[in-house]
Amino acid sequence: MLRAARHVVALTGAGVSTPSGIPDFRSADVGLWETSDPMEVASIHAFRENPDRFYRWLRPLATLMRDARPNAAHFALAQLEHAGIIRTVISQNIDGLHQKAGSTRVAEVHGHVREAVCLACYRVTPSESYLARFIADGETPLCPACGGVLKPNATLFGEALPAQALLSATAAARQCDVMLVAGSSLEVAPAADLPHLALEHRARLIIINFGETYLDDRADVLIRGDVADVLPRIVEAIVAPSELRPG
Ligand code: ZN
Repeated sequence: MLRAARHVVALTGAGVSTPSGIPDFRSADVGLWETSDPMEVASIHAFRENPDRFYRWLRPLATLMRDARPNAAHFALAQLEHAGIIRTVISQNIDGLHQKAGSTRVAEVHGHVREAVCLACYRVTPSESYLARFIADGETPLCPACGGVLKPNATLFGEALPAQALLSATAAARQCDVMLVAGSSLEVAPAADLPHLALEHRARLIIINFGETYLDDRADVLIRGDVADVLPRIVEAIVAPSELRPG
């Protein structure tokens, strides 16, 4: 199916980043999140009310993300793009690991942590300029221009999704003839809606995920497994060695 398709889009969720040590903050059994409800502390409302509390909650995650390396699933998806099989990766993840693995067309529908925006003057600041200090001292990062509070450019609960990424993701879902869902339980919008949109436009659906999704019955191929195990095996099976990117 992947070889015969003319336009393949991958949709990735937290399951692609958990093998890199980044927890899925919706799964209840992850120690990092036990102290507070992420829905409460990581909402835009809670952020505006108490940014210091948000940043205390974020600090262990920010450390994990800074140190995380792409895993076999990220590299496999990058190889599939390099081989001309995948056109776009739509990701719910904010960690930037697809790009670190070599994917170049990534629609980050929940934003990313490479930048932060000032809530007072809207100036954008790259995260390199404050991340190391924040991880070291835990102080809430402030805008270098006006001293306002910086908010990471990742989408908080209750916040609008980044328009450009959402537009590209929606266009890709409409245009693709195969959608490959990897490591997403398809519970949160827009990830929940995009495969449905693809199906409405007669795309075929491949789902690789540990747990069930609401679209399992509609999938043409359903693989229950670890994406870091399954995706490299797909690359091995369908990509010729000459199409592989060196390294
Ligand atoms: Zn500012």
